[in-house]
Amino acid sequence: MQFALIGVVDVDFHKFPDPDALHIGQAVMPHGIPDGNALGIQHAFLRHHGHFRFHPGRVDCPGAGFKGDEIEEAIFRISDFGFPPRLCLVDHTISHSLFARAQTLIPGGVNSPVRAFRAVGGEPFFVERAEGAHIWDVDGNEYIDYVGTWGPAILGHAAPAVINAIRETAVRGVSFGIPNPLEVEMAALIREWVPSIEKVRMVNSGTEATMSCIRLARGFTGRDKIVKFDGCYHGHVDSLLVKAGSGALTHGEPDSAGVPAAFANLTITLPFNDASALRSLFMAEGSKIAAVIIEPIPANAGLYFPGPGFLELLRQQCSEYGAVLIFDEVMTGFRVARGGAQELYGVSPDLTALGKVIGGGLPVGAFGGRAAIMDFLSPVGPVYQAGTLSGNPLAMAAGLAQLRELDRMDGWRILEQLGAALEAGLRGILKGMEDRFTLHRVGSMFCLFCTGGPVANLADAQRSDREAFARFFHRCLDAGLYVAPSQFETGFISLAHTAEDIEQTLRIIGAALRQTL
Ligand code: PLP
Repeated sequence: MQFALIGVVDVDFHKFPDPDALHIGQAVMPHGIPDGNALGIQHAFLRHHGHFRFHPGRVDCPGAGFKGDEIEEAIFRISDFGFPPRLCLVDHTISHSLFARAQTLIPGGVNSPVRAFRAVGGEPFFVERAEGAHIWDVDGNEYIDYVGTWGPAILGHAAPAVINAIRETAVRGVSFGIPNPLEVEMAALIREWVPSIEKVRMVNSGTEATMSCIRLARGFTGRDKIVKFDGCYHGHVDSLLVKAGSGALTHGEPDSAGVPAAFANLTITLPFNDASALRSLFMAEGSKIAAVIIEPIPANAGLYFPGPGFLELLRQQCSEYGAVLIFDEVMTGFRVARGGAQELYGVSPDLTALGKVIGGGLPVGAFGGRAAIMDFLSPVGPVYQAGTLSGNPLAMAAGLAQLRELDRMDGWRILEQLGAALEAGLRGILKGMEDRFTLHRVGSMFCLFCTGGPVANLADAQRSDREAFARFFHRCLDAGLYVAPSQFETGFISLAHTAEDIEQTLRIIGAALRQTL
C-alpha cells in the first residue's frame, strides 16, 4: 500500500480520535528505519519499528500487517518537503500509478491543466464513478464533491433525468451532421429563458462560444479592438488569453506562448469594478472598440461581484460608442438564476456566451443575442462559424433534460436554500477569523478566500495566502471533501447535495481550518 507523504509532518497517531478514519484498516506497517535523506528528513522516529521508503511525494509501506489500534505513538519530523505539509493516510496507490503512466502519454498527465493539482501540490486522483454529490476514486476513496465537473453537474452526477435522455437518444443515432428537432427545442428554450437572446447558435465548448462572439462582434462592427477585465477567464481563445499590466489601461501582452503579440495588442484589459478606468478608456478609444467581454459575476479568480452600477455603466458606454457588450455566462448561465446573471442584475448584453450547465455534462456551448448581430453569421452573413458536432443530438438531449428538470424542481430556489445553509455554517466557523478569510456566495456558487476582505477584483483576490489554501485543500481532500484544487476557482453546490452532506462538509471544513491556521 502506498501513502502520499508531502511536507512537514509531525503526527502523533495516539492523538487521532478515530484511527479508522485514517483509512489504515489492515494497512501494513513498515519495518526498518526511514531512508529519507534525499528529501531532507531531519529526524524520523517510529516506536513501532518500521521501514519507510521515501520517494518524492510518496511513501511505500510494505511489510507486516498492522491495525490502527496498535499504533501507540508515531512521530515523524520531516522538513524541507516544500508545501503543503501533511501526511496523507489515504491510499492512492492506483491513482498514483495511473498518473505516472498518464504523464508518459499526455502532457502533464492531464487534459486540462488545473486537473494536475499544481496550485496545491500533490497529485490528482483518478475517478472511478460519480453519483449525486459524491465521487469515488479508483482506490475506493469517497468524496463529497463541490467541483461538479467545474459547473455542469447542477443536478448532481449521473442524474437519472440526464442519463435516461442520453440512453433514449443514443439508440436512434449519436450524430447526424444535419438538423435535428432537438436543436430547435434547445434554441426555443434558451430564447424563452434568456430574453436578450433572440437567436442562438450551438457550439461544443465555452471556449468556442466566446471565440465566436468575438469574431462576430468584430465582423458586425468592422472594428478590431476588444476589451476584457483582469481576472475574467473566457476559455483559451488567443485574443482573450491576455494578462493585465499595471495601471488602469494596459495594452495586453500574451498570457501564453503561441499567442502572437499582434493579437494580444488588440486586447485591452481593465481592472474589474473600476468605473473611472472604463470611462477613460471609452473616451480615448471608444470608436475603435468592437466589443467588451465580461463575466458579469467573475468566477475564475475566486468569486467576486460587480459593484453597484458597474454593469449598468458598461451597458451605457457600449451603447453610446457602438461597441458590442458580451456577457460570458458560461459559468453563471442557468446556474445563478434561470436567466443567468443578466436576470439577477437586470442588465441586457448584446451577445451572451453559454456553456457548462446547458450541456448536462456533455460537451456543449452556445452563443446568442440580438438577431441583427446574429444574422451576421454564415450562411446568412459574412462571419464564418461552423462545427461538425454542433447541435449534436446527444448533447441537446442531455442539456434539455437537465434544464427542464431544474425548472420542474424549481431548482434555483432549492440551490439558494442549500447555499444559504452552507454559508450560515461557514460564517459560524469563520467567526473571529474574518481578518484571514473572506467568504463569497451567490446561490449555489461560493468561494473561501484565504485573505481578509474586501475582495472586489483580481488584485484583491491575489492577496490570498495560497500556501494556507493548499494546506486547507489537502486536509479537506484527505477527510473526504473535494473542493477545487486552486484558490482561484469557485465551488458549486448541486441539487444532489443533502442537508447531511452540508453538515459533514461543515465538520470537515471546520477541522481543516483549525489545522490550517
Ligand atoms: N468562460 C468562462 C466564464 C468559463 O468559466 C470557462 C471555463 O471554465 C470558459 C469560458 C471556457 O469554457 P470551456 O472550458 O468549456 O471551453
